[in-house]
Amino acid sequence: MKSSRNHDQTDIVCRKNDIFELDIQAMGTEGEGIGKIQGYTLFVKDAMTGDRVRVRVIKTKKHFGYARLLEILSPSPDRVKPLCPVARQCGGCQLQHCSYPSQLRWKENKVRDCLNRIGGFHVLASGVSAQISENVSEKASEAVPDAMSKKVSETSSETGFSSLHNTVKMEPILSMETPYYYRNKAQFPVGKDKNGRLVAGFYAGRTHSIIENTDCMIQHPCNRLIVETVLAFMQENHITPYDEKTHSGLVRHILTRVGIFTGEIMVCLVINGHDLPESPKLVDKLLHCDFGASLSQQAVSPENGQSAAWQEQAPLRIESICLNENTEKTNVILGSKISVLYGRNRIEDRIGSIKYQISPLSFYQVNPLQTRRLYETALEFADLKGGEIVWDLYCGIGTISLFLAQKAAKVCGVEIVPQAVEDARKNAALNQLENTEFFAGAAEQVVPEQYEKSGGAMKADVVTLDPPRKGCDEKLLDTVVKMNPEKIVYVSCDPATLARDLRYLCDRGYELRRVRACDMFGMSWHVETIVLMSRGKLS
Ligand code: SAH
Repeated sequence: MKSSRNHDQTDIVCRKNDIFELDIQAMGTEGEGIGKIQGYTLFVKDAMTGDRVRVRVIKTKKHFGYARLLEILSPSPDRVKPLCPVARQCGGCQLQHCSYPSQLRWKENKVRDCLNRIGGFHVLASGVSAQISENVSEKASEAVPDAMSKKVSETSSETGFSSLHNTVKMEPILSMETPYYYRNKAQFPVGKDKNGRLVAGFYAGRTHSIIENTDCMIQHPCNRLIVETVLAFMQENHITPYDEKTHSGLVRHILTRVGIFTGEIMVCLVINGHDLPESPKLVDKLLHCDFGASLSQQAVSPENGQSAAWQEQAPLRIESICLNENTEKTNVILGSKISVLYGRNRIEDRIGSIKYQISPLSFYQVNPLQTRRLYETALEFADLKGGEIVWDLYCGIGTISLFLAQKAAKVCGVEIVPQAVEDARKNAALNQLENTEFFAGAAEQVVPEQYEKSGGAMKADVVTLDPPRKGCDEKLLDTVVKMNPEKIVYVSCDPATLARDLRYLCDRGYELRRVRACDMFGMSWHVETIVLMSRGKLS
């Protein structure tokens, strides 16, 4: 009887399809608005802090529910009109309706809130986030149901060591000069619309239906001409798009990569087959693309956010046209086999003075302008004098390793994907950085193994960590502590797992010194953070 009354109470507050008016008090980890109905939390996609909105409830759970935004009754002072006409349907951008300064403040606060709440630190707001009401992050933690916020804190260390709770003031977020047209890599799914017309675009959030769009506002502007040229070729030569449901048709995705600093472009068609009929015609058409003319025709004005950054770089030209075979019934975009239709199977780009070779399969940072600033910050935090031994863990194709190798005695990189390790070795050779060594394998296995093998003699002056979202394994962190580095530079794409790992390191004698967020992905909810930890006082 009692439990059914409780259940009824939740139901009475909020039932599916109910319509409510509410104030959005905060934003959740993925940028969704958070409001309350008589204490019951509702998450509202596309709503932002400061909005008063009308919503329809779409799903209810015991402690929180989800609602769809129907109408903005009174907009937040930070609300702006998205520049992209399909911003709301498309799954790519979550924050286009938030002014860029408000996105930056929200990202900084998110990092600070995680470090304080999960890490037990006392991180103060930088000038940027101090401009907004100080209690925004408190409101966010209040508004997020306990069940959700506890997820990460429960996994933080329960060692019995007390957290050091040291106080650090955040440094201002590394913001993008222009938060549009920044991505150097695009993957456009190809399909048919309901009238059978050939279309390319992006998947709607959490679905596989294609939202038609060849002019994405966060992609490099050369993509529009490339995608339209490929679609015209397919139309003229009766080349079919792939159909997921029937596993038939040929062209699955159009993948493009641009070397922002070199101007080199790669176009790769992912096909459900072994060859592309009439492929010389595609090559010919693509090589006739006039990128200079096409870009100047696109409205280039401060209002549409077109960046001057790409205009200042080397002239754009296609250096590689490839096919990638993927005949599997899978959501994974790329298969493993690549054949070249024109030029090379890779393009080159530079970050600072380091050159990188990029194949369609390589992982490479998608925003090189911000990556350069992030790595410069890593270099500044590491403050290398020339004689140091550095371990770069989760090194990918050696991007950070090579950057640091310019200033260190030796850099050892560890990465789990063997292909990326191959790329890292090639990139080291390309840049004549012979003071590098790369190990393939899981960092939590390779590093303890190497440490044991050395009989405990393996030391590091600096360790850099750049793990995926799930953060570092404790076995790895334990070995890092034994290697006794004076400094640890941690680059993170998830502030919650960052906070958990920093706390673990602090419980073992490290102190948090510097914290800086970096906006690598404007318009999205993602935020990168770079942190310096050190043992004892820095001289
Ligand atoms: N530092 C690189 C890559 C960072 S992305 C850069 O800046 O470009 C994180 C990397 O960690 C990916 O390359 C991923 O393949 C790798 N990785 C994931 N789990 C790992 C593990 N357990 N051990 C080592 N590397 C891992």
